[in-house]
Amino acid sequence: MQQWDVIIIGAGAAGLMCAIEAGKRGRRVLLLDNGKRVGRKILMSGGGRCNFTNMYAGPENFLSQNKHFCKSALSRYTQWDFIALVQKHAIAYHEKTLGQLFCDDSAKDIVDMLLSEAKAANVQIALQQTITGVSFADGQYTVTTAELSRQCHSLVVASGGLSLPNLGATAFGFQLAEQFGLKVLPLRAALVPLTWQPADKAVFEEISGVSLPVTAEVNGTVFPEDMLFTHRGLSGPAILQISSYWQPGDEVIVNMAPQTDVAEFLSAQQQAHPEQEVKTALAKLLPKRLVEKLLELKVFTNQPLKALNPKSIKQLADSLHAYVFKPNGTEGYRTAEVTIGGVDTDYLSSKTMEAKNQPGLYFIGEVVDVTGWLGGYNFQWAWASGWVAGQYC
Ligand SMILES: Cc1cc2nc3c(=O)[nH]c(=O)nc-3n(C[C@H](O)[C@H](O)[C@H](O)COP(=O)(O)OP(=O)(O)OC[C@H]3O[C@@H](n4cnc5c(N)ncnc54)[C@H](O)[C@@H]3O)c2cc1C
Repeated sequence: MQQWDVIIIGAGAAGLMCAIEAGKRGRRVLLLDNGKRVGRKILMSGGGRCNFTNMYAGPENFLSQNKHFCKSALSRYTQWDFIALVQKHAIAYHEKTLGQLFCDDSAKDIVDMLLSEAKAANVQIALQQTITGVSFADGQYTVTTAELSRQCHSLVVASGGLSLPNLGATAFGFQLAEQFGLKVLPLRAALVPLTWQPADKAVFEEISGVSLPVTAEVNGTVFPEDMLFTHRGLSGPAILQISSYWQPGDEVIVNMAPQTDVAEFLSAQQQAHPEQEVKTALAKLLPKRLVEKLLELKVFTNQPLKALNPKSIKQLADSLHAYVFKPNGTEGYRTAEVTIGGVDTDYLSSKTMEAKNQPGLYFIGEVVDVTGWLGGYNFQWAWASGWVAGQYC
């Protein structure tokens, strides 16, 4: 029987950070993963450049049943701490937009950085491990794989969420939480494209590839960013963001011209070019293929601008400022970036990430019911929660 101080299940962002911190404290740490390599999601994140944090990250950028839970970890290990680590390793990075920091070269730089920190902290890593059982007796956890059993005083669960099952995602962490009496809040795919109702698909799939800046709103939450029409539905950052707030049956209200007062714009165009057709004027504001689709949908009638009266201008403006889509679902875990829900934070200490009812058992990263917006926030939660647990496990 191998004996360890700490076993961490999941060598992703949170698990690696926790291993480094616990190793630095002199703990004998083993990091277990079911994959062939560590940090597989880091490697494919941010289009291969890893949006590793966000300069403006704060508790308000996270969804959780208890929105206060993430505050402690986020304030003790901040984005500036992670940026300092990136700088220490001389990794070149840049701000893409809205505080989102990406590697200049490759996400591999981040994985290499974490691996070199882990090595310095004497962390041992075992890959391609299939865990067949976990038990607890006499203050020790026994983690069993097909080959051997290992014991530890502290067991850290960092096995992530359900998105991208072909990249090693499993429900392991949620099942383990339930095994030890912790509640798991309902899970659903988030940061995910929304899919068309059949009738909308027939209409909009023709304009797949069209993208425009919008604001997307669900139940009062609004995100300004780009929206993309696809064959399957709506995507782009504005839609991925709002998908975290969308539940089946909800409408998505899209402002197709958030920067412009469409009524004022049309009145000015009417004055300047009374003979111009409505669709020509609208094509100055919106992608032409979208304008043609809106015409086909009878959102407006094509006629010279001089034929519009103030009421018809207002009607058209209102429909462009609040166009309603009713998706029939999401693309699910196959393409989702994250899982919403997870281990109920009521069962965890926000200071240590340890289970309140089960000494020595910790949950960190995405397996916990804390989900960030798109833009580097999910990694910041993984780093922060991993760092915090690493101080205590
Ligand atoms: C395509 C994509 C792009 C993304 N881009 C970004 C981005 O740019 N910025 C950002 O902030 N977030 C991004 N995310 C989200 C981010 O990757 C996750 O929130 C983050 O990786 C969660 O970290 P974690 O350590 O909790 O879990 P993970 O990184 O998912 O790590 C969990 C690890 O546990 C292992 N595991 C699972 N089950 C078992 C088991 N039974 N036994 C052993 N090991 C197991 C997995 O193989 C994995 O290695 C992206 C996600 C995806 C899918």
